[in-house]
Amino acid sequence: MREIKSLIDKLTRENFLTKEELKRLLENLNEDTRDYLIQRAYDVRKLNYGNSVFLRGLIEISNICKYDCHYCGIRASNHKVSRYRLSKDQILDCCHKGYLLGYRTFVLQGGEDSYFTDEILIEIIKELKTQYKDIAVTLSLGERGRESFQRLYEAGADRYLLRHETANKKLYEKLHPKMSYENRIESLHILKEIGYQVGSGFLIGLPGLKLKDYAEDLMLLKQLKPHMVGIGPFIPHPATPLKDEVGGTAYDTITLLAIIRLLLPDVLLPATTALGTIDPKGREKGFKAGANVIMPNLSPMNCREKYSLYEGKKFLGNESAEEKIKIEKNILDSGFEPILTRGDNIKWKRK
Ligand code: SAM
Repeated sequence: MREIKSLIDKLTRENFLTKEELKRLLENLNEDTRDYLIQRAYDVRKLNYGNSVFLRGLIEISNICKYDCHYCGIRASNHKVSRYRLSKDQILDCCHKGYLLGYRTFVLQGGEDSYFTDEILIEIIKELKTQYKDIAVTLSLGERGRESFQRLYEAGADRYLLRHETANKKLYEKLHPKMSYENRIESLHILKEIGYQVGSGFLIGLPGLKLKDYAEDLMLLKQLKPHMVGIGPFIPHPATPLKDEVGGTAYDTITLLAIIRLLLPDVLLPATTALGTIDPKGREKGFKAGANVIMPNLSPMNCREKYSLYEGKKFLGNESAEEKIKIEKNILDSGFEPILTRGDNIKWKRK
């Protein structure tokens, strides 16, 4: 136990552990040392961002996807999904509604839908940036190549979320037909070079992975130094090849949130919808372990059910951007402070 506490102290002090040390930590945590880890993560988050929890409005712009990721409910071969795509005006309307509610970051996420060419996205981004001077635009639209990433950045996009999903190359390629692990990682480096605030992250509980295996993902994050990290439990979807798998736990997710806060002290770290879906208190527990972002849903109400990445995905109550007052109250009640400004990473400046 003393050895594990001293590993946590080293991680807190140096923001670094070797892969072997990370494995040892992950394999040997008990209730006591895990509480100690979470407390250190809370202290570090407080030092960097105080008690702030940044709110972002999430707009799911399309559930049409050309890819077939084995875990994802909107994969191309799931013919049971009723498909939708928002028009430019619908997207602008969602942002307008969000702006009036007070949101100042809009996250445009979607399946890999080739309708959304650079030209269409550039029009949307430019219109948003002209209309609202104090907002940040985040994109989460998959791998698009250097030229496209560059054009979208020049149009005004500020951030890009692209999880690496798993640092296990063999597993990555098994779960992502026709995609390459190298390309995923290369895309993340390109996004950083261009100047985006970059978010990576991974799924917890993919088949065959044990807690110690996430040492690989943590090393990758430490190397990439993203500005944001999105991790969440994998939750099986009944119309996917992984439907009979168990999925990830809130417990492991929270442990990993705390380790990430210590590895990357200034990272923006969401308590994800998936975490809030498997544990009604998941987000509050996440904040206490170092998470400092939430992304309530701003999509049109009649589309939310169709963006069904996993079984039971929540989009009402605390997950719904319209419930801002309720969300703010819950954040305050758990001892944190809701913040609606753009909330950039403290180390980032636009090039
Ligand atoms: N196409 C974009 C991309 O690949 O980055 C963004 C859309 S994708 C649906 C957004 C995220 O959903 C993925 O990064 C993945 O981690 C998550 N996701 C998909 N299926 C999931 C599941 N069954 N459980 C939890 N998260 C899931």
